Amino acid sequence: MVVGILALQGAFAEHEKVLDSLEEDWFEIRSLQDLNRSMDGIILPGGESTVQGKLLNDFGMKDKLRNIIVEGLPVFGTCAGLILLSERIADEDTVHLGTMPMIVRRNGYGRQLGSFSSKGRFGRIQDVDMEFIRAPYIESVGDGVEILSIVEGRTVAARFDKQIVTAFHPELTDDVRVHQFFLDIINN
Ligand code: GLN
Repeated sequence: MVVGILALQGAFAEHEKVLDSLEEDWFEIRSLQDLNRSMDGIILPGGESTVQGKLLNDFGMKDKLRNIIVEGLPVFGTCAGLILLSERIADEDTVHLGTMPMIVRRNGYGRQLGSFSSKGRFGRIQDVDMEFIRAPYIESVGDGVEILSIVEGRTVAARFDKQIVTAFHPELTDDVRVHQFFLDIINN
């Protein structure tokens, strides 16, 4: 198995370390050519969704990336990655990839003091360490979206078929179970 990791901006190196620890192969996606490589899944890291969205546009990668996700390539979006996948962003007109039917609120916990740690349930997995950094939350979900985590009344992780998203950063903790969950989706 090999996982492509979008490496235009943000916390991609941390995902690489997690996959190393799970002994899975990965490569960095930095260009349209990289999107043509064969891969079994793709990770969209945290960072700044506006910057990542702009770079995807500038490098002509957006349509191809959207297509491979719509066609069913498993994808795991963390934080900014969640925002990229969202069909709508509250109070904004921008849509990046828009493959997941949900409305997300960027910087949902405030811009400055929006970073905190928590522990919560992710699907059937209990006590997952959750790092939130200027995180979004999911305001509402459409048909077919399964909510996987709720923290303090807010939806912070969800699944839509082979797309999973977390508003928190499992790659910044030692807890590899969310990544393992994603790899299990790839392996079916
Ligand atoms: N606030 C960022 C954004 O809007 C997301 C933060 C993150 O990825 N840690 O894109």
